[in-house]
Amino acid sequence: EEEKSLNFIEEIIEEDLRSGKHDGRVLTRFPPEPNGYLHIGHAKSICLNFGLAQKYNGKTNLRFDDTNPVTEDTEYVESIKNDIQWLGFQWAQELYTSDYFETLYEYAVKLIKNGLAYVDDSTAEEIAAAKGTPTEPGVPTPNRSRSVEENLQLFQEMRDGKYQDGEKVLRAKIDLANPNMHMRDPIIYRIKHAHHHRTGDKWCIYPMYDFAHGQSDSIEKITHSVCTLEFIPHRALYDWLIEQLEIFPSKQYEFARLNMTYTVMSKRKLLQLVNEGHVESWDDPRMPTISGLRRRGYTPASIRNFCDRIGIQKRENMIDVSLLEFCIREDLNKTAWRRMAVLDPIKLIITNYPDGKVEELVGENNPEVEGGEGSRIIPFTKELWIERDDFMEDAPKKFFRLGPGLSVRLKHGYIVECHDFKKDENGNVTEVHCNYIPNSKSGEDTSGLKVKGTIHWVSTAHAKEAEVRLYDRLFQVENPAAEEDFKASLNPNSLTVIPKAYIEPDLANAIPGKGYQFIRLGYFNLDTKSTSEHLVFNRTVTLKDSWAK
Ligand code: ATP
Ligand code: MG
Ligand code: MG
Repeated sequence: EEEKSLNFIEEIIEEDLRSGKHDGRVLTRFPPEPNGYLHIGHAKSICLNFGLAQKYNGKTNLRFDDTNPVTEDTEYVESIKNDIQWLGFQWAQELYTSDYFETLYEYAVKLIKNGLAYVDDSTAEEIAAAKGTPTEPGVPTPNRSRSVEENLQLFQEMRDGKYQDGEKVLRAKIDLANPNMHMRDPIIYRIKHAHHHRTGDKWCIYPMYDFAHGQSDSIEKITHSVCTLEFIPHRALYDWLIEQLEIFPSKQYEFARLNMTYTVMSKRKLLQLVNEGHVESWDDPRMPTISGLRRRGYTPASIRNFCDRIGIQKRENMIDVSLLEFCIREDLNKTAWRRMAVLDPIKLIITNYPDGKVEELVGENNPEVEGGEGSRIIPFTKELWIERDDFMEDAPKKFFRLGPGLSVRLKHGYIVECHDFKKDENGNVTEVHCNYIPNSKSGEDTSGLKVKGTIHWVSTAHAKEAEVRLYDRLFQVENPAAEEDFKASLNPNSLTVIPKAYIEPDLANAIPGKGYQFIRLGYFNLDTKSTSEHLVFNRTVTLKDSWAK
């Protein structure tokens, strides 16, 4: 195998292992906020955090960062767990920041006792105004000089519910002139009289992200806490709090978040698409969510491969969605079972084939592997559905399909030659009439004839009906998030529904998650909401990249 060079986080870990830091222990965490479904950006973080632990014989905790009671919900908790396991990873412990609320409260009390935190009655606007600007220092608000005793009492009263939302906050007392705005006495606790999905009404004060995150890392003795680049300016505060509290020294490292073309990657925006009905649900196959990709037909291996290929960088960048499509094509080409389906049917009648005769042709499931992973029976009869665009009345020279006088091979079957066709009153072709060559059967062809084209087909008497959904990009522009209104660039043609396609009978046995190649058409996945009465297939991706640049 080709030796892969280390990414910068692996380099840091290997250096830590060499120097004996943390006794060679590696413990990472994946810390989702349960306020939405996971997306492909989260997959990058999951593959990184769990991948590092796997590589260095360590572990990864799943920690729900549930400090914001208003937007969080257990529905999201369940979907997140399901998606991580589907991707192929297992956490060491399932943990919740809310389980640390008491400890975090005690940490805040410790800061107050050490003169490093104070209760401020100023409004959010007053606090922001007094913070100064990056070039001008902030000024103290009147409460900055409160005594330790008074702060302890007020903070206790905040907890006891004596004050309304926004009436008071707890701030760390650091440095109002620090060039890093995050160090200018950041708010670490706020009042929120809201029901929490796990702690109920026990708390009416909640720690801010910066106060909860690093301390939670430290409580769990996380060795390498990896987050995205926006948190670089938070790192000083992360380190300051751990140092002042004299707790386990977890360290934060930052990598570039995943941005991908023709989609958005923020839970807030994705939630809007769901709530406003631009998509059906969080798992709509056009969504960049893990659940949407799964329903579309992406496999865990294809997503892990994608994350591996894009790698880990220290600078923001934009990944072309066609790389993700490449990864699923590559995977499905190796694993998908080949089947035949006709999306836009016209009838082909083999005039010299006996009426009522049914031949059971055999087609291997997967020609990409030795043994073909078994085979299925394909019934062949006098009347078949073929694709409308596989016939042309006035075919040009290089049209290797059907037209008057032209011959093709029917996949797994015989060579047929077209001798006639019928049209309706609107001039649309309704029937194509052919003769078959009896000794040209696939696998036992002694006809000596050579034809250039092979087309797919389904026996009309045996075909099953299915709804087929073709998906295109959800947005028309590369970077919708950069638009004034990202929703204005939604692609109105992101979904095309074919209400009645004809599929070969074996596809009635399809199961979601087992990819199928409809030959010549693309890769398809049975929809999770498909039923035996109403079969629904989603096109995962076309066979080739059809997007000319
Ligand atoms: P969003 O902006 O979509 O709400 P978030 O960062 O608020 O994302 P969290 O639930 O806090 O969502 O994310 C959990 C973890 O996933 C965090 O460590 C975060 O850094 C990481 N993550 C989120 N989005 C991306 C992304 N686009 N690329 C890589 N990692 C990401
Ligand atoms: Mg977050
Ligand atoms: Mg967020």
